[in-house]
Amino acid sequence: MNIKRIISFILIVLCVLPAASCGLLTTYETTEQTAEAETEGTRPEITSPEPVTLAPIISGDPTETETDEPETEKETDKQTETETEAQTTEAETEPYANELGFKVDLSAYEKYMDPEDKDAYLILVNPDNPVGKDYKPDDLEPLVDTRSDRSKRYMRLYAAKSLEAFLKEARANGCKDVTVTSAYRSYESQKEIFDGDVERFIKQGMTREEAIAKERLDTAYPGESEHQTGLAVDMHNLSSAQLKFKDTYEAQWLAENAWKFGFILRYLPGKEEITTYTYEPWHFRFIGRYHAKRIYEMGMCLEEYLEFLKTE
Ligand SMILES: [Zn+2]
Repeated sequence: MNIKRIISFILIVLCVLPAASCGLLTTYETTEQTAEAETEGTRPEITSPEPVTLAPIISGDPTETETDEPETEKETDKQTETETEAQTTEAETEPYANELGFKVDLSAYEKYMDPEDKDAYLILVNPDNPVGKDYKPDDLEPLVDTRSDRSKRYMRLYAAKSLEAFLKEARANGCKDVTVTSAYRSYESQKEIFDGDVERFIKQGMTREEAIAKERLDTAYPGESEHQTGLAVDMHNLSSAQLKFKDTYEAQWLAENAWKFGFILRYLPGKEEITTYTYEPWHFRFIGRYHAKRIYEMGMCLEEYLEFLKTE
């Protein structure tokens, strides 16, 4: 029996040893190893990465900035590209006829609006510079835009053609019912207007002197009117020329754009003492684009501009 026990012990030992090497005990070891591995695996992230992972972050600021910069540049590039695209699209959709932004093709009128002889129409007519009783231009042309209830009106060739362009563009810009009510006036017709008004004022109770003084504020004395040069035009959309025209879209458009067609608004507000006339938002004077543009930009009246030219 002892021998049997010994054999049994040996058998048990023989059986248990292999089981210990590849049995349940192995499971425990694996679990412990895994736990250790997990702990070990966590540690480097919490404690040891300082020199590894933090170093690049702290000392690597420039690196980081370098990484960011290209992105920022890319964004800027994108913005620039977008802006360029937007500008291109805008330029493509702009209804341009020429560099002045006309909506109507007025190229046939260019030679009139911007005359080769820039100074040819730089004429000054006012009470101090009368045009004379016998002055009559020899190149008067009928206007195409005279108001239907008025007799045919005329202007000098270059002024007439430029006005045609002015009104075509004005109508394309919403000034639908602006028409010409007066243009060239002979000495006689000016005298008729002037005398008629003076008589009317006298009938209202004024002395002749008072009536003439009042009339001269609004209407030129015969021989002193710009209308006699064939270079001046009255246009508006009212039944008669009235100051309230200034508040209309049409008056503002005409005043802002007149220079493009070679015209200036002749009697400006604030310049009454120089021009001797009250503000007339309907009275335009042809002068040619070169000088008209300068006069408009400088905000001068013609009298001031001519004085300025002497100093240039
Ligand atoms: Zn006028």
